[in-house]
Amino acid sequence: MITVENFVGGNFVTTAETFHDISPLDGSVIASIPRTKSVENAVEAAINAQSSWGSLSREERCDWLDKIADALSANKEEIARLESLDTGKPHDVAFNVDADRSINNFRFFAQFGREMEQETFVMDDAINHVIRKPIGVVGLISPWNLPLYLLTWKIAPALLMGNSVIAKPSEITPLTAHYLSQICKEIGLPDGVLNIVHGYGPEVGQAIVEHPSIKAISFTGGTSTGRIVAATAAPMFKKLSLELGGKNASIILEDADLDKAVPGVLRASFLNSGQICLCGSRVLIHSSIYEEFMQRYLQELESFSIGPVISTEHRDKVLSYIELAKQEGGTILAGGVVPDKAGAWIEPTVITGLSHTSRTATEEIFGPVVTIHTFDEDSEAIEMANCTEYGLAGSVWSKEKGFEIAEQIDSGMVWVNTWLHRDLRVPFGGVKNSGVGREGGMWSIGFFSEAVNICVKED
Ligand code: NDP
Repeated sequence: MITVENFVGGNFVTTAETFHDISPLDGSVIASIPRTKSVENAVEAAINAQSSWGSLSREERCDWLDKIADALSANKEEIARLESLDTGKPHDVAFNVDADRSINNFRFFAQFGREMEQETFVMDDAINHVIRKPIGVVGLISPWNLPLYLLTWKIAPALLMGNSVIAKPSEITPLTAHYLSQICKEIGLPDGVLNIVHGYGPEVGQAIVEHPSIKAISFTGGTSTGRIVAATAAPMFKKLSLELGGKNASIILEDADLDKAVPGVLRASFLNSGQICLCGSRVLIHSSIYEEFMQRYLQELESFSIGPVISTEHRDKVLSYIELAKQEGGTILAGGVVPDKAGAWIEPTVITGLSHTSRTATEEIFGPVVTIHTFDEDSEAIEMANCTEYGLAGSVWSKEKGFEIAEQIDSGMVWVNTWLHRDLRVPFGGVKNSGVGREGGMWSIGFFSEAVNICVKED
């Protein structure tokens, strides 16, 4: 059994009370986790470390990010093994998606930091110099679906801009964050620059959000938790970035190239067992190509393999939505059943016959469940795509009209003839109840720094 410990001020420490990390593959206990309730020690360590870290040149901090990337890269197989053990996801997804992107997050921001240009604005008689100062101590909170991938997406730019960090992974998936702390210790990252604490969200997560010395909170998770985080942090005027839930549409227009659309939409439906905030859980198909699309989609689904969902509690939530779909008049075309084995398994599930305004089709399920809807006019597809409280992502599949339709979708990110095709320089985030703020490239730099203008008058 692995012993997960907090990483505070460069030391590994635990708490009097611990609890268990359970494997979604078979229900076995894989780790013990500290049940942290207070972040005072972590805050003290982070405050002590911040000024010397913030005084390093940006180039020196970029070198540190590269050192972390090198060390992660040398241990990519181990990262994939731990992520797969903790989440149950297939090894190739853990290796090619999670481990790869975690390394890339450090690599990308190291390079980005080196290439950042001076921000100056010239007037007739003066020059404005925008300088970017660290915020101080920042709190980073992430979910269980892409554990190290999403946490490092915050850690890398936060460190780049000279902040010290208190990070909290989900208690359900602490293994790779713990491994990152071991790697940072090994390579000699200055003590207290990165602190990682473990425990339950409403306890240690809440303690991070509440602490007055933590000046910014970057949170990725569910919309209802985001609401609690915002309500706690806003009265203290903390900087706040919220990446929340989604209910994204994949729209297949009449002129779509089905050779691309079928595998693309299938991947968007079920990658990571549908547990990616960007997954297309609503599939909207032009009625003229419905029969052909569905026949090919269901056929390809037969050879699409997925892992379990994250826990038996989450599986039960997903199953409750499948029951709800039946009550709402839906027909299960595929899946809907739990395989006869231990662990949190559930088959990829495809449901038709529901109104696009039904609860099943508008509430976030965050599992391997999609609802299928048809439309006759493109305007109907747009109306359906925009009818939920969410506005995170989406995809449009069309030879001619993709961009035109994409522009009319109320979401932060829309892909045309592709999905999850990521360029780390572009804004990432949602509108409506899918979040506040953006991450990625300059947007992360903006969030993790205080932009200060110095206006110098010329003679
Ligand atoms: P949760 O909102 O339950 O948890 C997210 C994180 O917040 C976890 O680390 C959790 O800790 C912590 N937390 C819980 N309560 C509090 C609190 N009161 N104060 C501070 N932190 C708290 O989300 P899930 O982990 O269930 O993740 C799934 C959700 O994340 C989905 O809604 C999904 O759409 C969303 N998501 C959004 C993304 C985006 O970029 N927009 C990307 C990926 C996921 P613990 O787990 O230990 O309780």
